[in-house]
Amino acid sequence: MSDLDSFRQEIRAWLEANCPPEMREPVRDEGDICWGGRRFQFKNAAQKTWLERCVAKGYTVPDWPKAYGGAGLSPAEAKIWREECARIGARPPLSSFGIWMLGPALLKFGTEEQKVHYLGQIARGEIRWCQGYSEPGSGSDLVSLQTFGEDKGDHWVVNGQKIWTSYADKADWIFCLVRTDKTNKYQGISFLLFDMESPGVTTKPIKLISGSSPFCETFFDNVQVPKAQIVGQLNRGWDVAKYLLGHEREMISGAGGSDRLTTIGAVIARNGLEDPILRAELAQFDVDALAYTAMGEKFLDEIKVGKAHPAQPNMMKYAGTELNKRRHELLMAAGGSTALEWESEATSGGTPARSWLRTKANSIEGGTSEVMLNVIAKRILDLPGA
Ligand SMILES: Cc1cc2nc3c(=O)[nH]c(=O)nc-3n(C[C@H](O)[C@H](O)[C@H](O)COP(=O)(O)OP(=O)(O)OC[C@H]3O[C@@H](n4cnc5c(N)ncnc54)[C@H](O)[C@@H]3O)c2cc1C
Repeated sequence: MSDLDSFRQEIRAWLEANCPPEMREPVRDEGDICWGGRRFQFKNAAQKTWLERCVAKGYTVPDWPKAYGGAGLSPAEAKIWREECARIGARPPLSSFGIWMLGPALLKFGTEEQKVHYLGQIARGEIRWCQGYSEPGSGSDLVSLQTFGEDKGDHWVVNGQKIWTSYADKADWIFCLVRTDKTNKYQGISFLLFDMESPGVTTKPIKLISGSSPFCETFFDNVQVPKAQIVGQLNRGWDVAKYLLGHEREMISGAGGSDRLTTIGAVIARNGLEDPILRAELAQFDVDALAYTAMGEKFLDEIKVGKAHPAQPNMMKYAGTELNKRRHELLMAAGGSTALEWESEATSGGTPARSWLRTKANSIEGGTSEVMLNVIAKRILDLPGA
């Protein structure tokens, strides 16, 4: 038996013994997701147990180094971990912007002290993070952002406004892009971390078409941020921001292992679907979803051998989000009028319709599809500003 085979057996046995049966059920609603953080309320004992057991082994962030709360798995071992979790339908023990976005940026740009402190907190699910990038008027053209940090010696005083800040009202800390030099557009931004309970931070939820309020307007009024809470160099936050965006786009595309793009044709056809045009569209979707999965595998292999193309996260983001929107259009079409019900028991409170509407944001959040196409073109043609 190869080392990887015996590792698979070990993981399989550990999961069998440690993943509670309730944590092998599909995620039905927001409450089933463990976000962690200072104010997080566990839905049940099983959710808490599952998190604690995974934290103890480093499995909330399996491929991070052990020194920072991970399990130190190699890429091949981490893939086995994901496959074995998927095999039994195990829910992620912890979902967080810290894991998906800030963590990778800290691993690359953080000081040793920052890595030990913040990565450990993220791995243990102690702090919930939100992302302060977009501003009114600075979304796609993010680099035009105006939130300003005035240098006061040992700290900055931050003033300005962010918008579309997902879960800002639930987060404990924010990773935030702040202008620290008004004379230099690209090299005048710094990447700061601060507590959302700092005096001067306020949030105002924004309601979405799906009825939920997952994001906020976020206001900074003379917020004091100690100088030690900068990641990377002063005025070079754009480098950190761009690197983080690559990981964000990977997460939104589902390339990080989410089950968003599972095929749907067989399940729907089993329930009886006569319409030949819809059947053909479902079949075409499944072919495209499988091709997308194969593309993701190929990209992961290229990353492992250091041959990743710089346009990869953007290609995955573009293709993955457009496919996910198509998937939900088809689920709605196949679901007929029942799928449109907003409050009924048959739809568990309108889950199909609300999920369908939520997917409309997939090709906006983390950079729009149009902007992805621009970036892909620039990076493939190696144009200036790529
Ligand atoms: C669900 C959701 C969650 C989000 N969460 C966060 C968050 O947590 N933190 C955060 O900071 N932001 C967040 N965002 C904001 C997101 O990053 C922005 O919405 C996105 O970058 C687009 O910016 P904008 O909304 O200002 O649109 P705009 O930039 O104003 O774009 C408007 C339209 O113009 C098009 N366009 C713009 N520029 C170009 C161009 N150069 N070429 C071609 N077309 C172009 C766009 O494609 C779009 O169709 C979230 C957004 C959504 C929908």
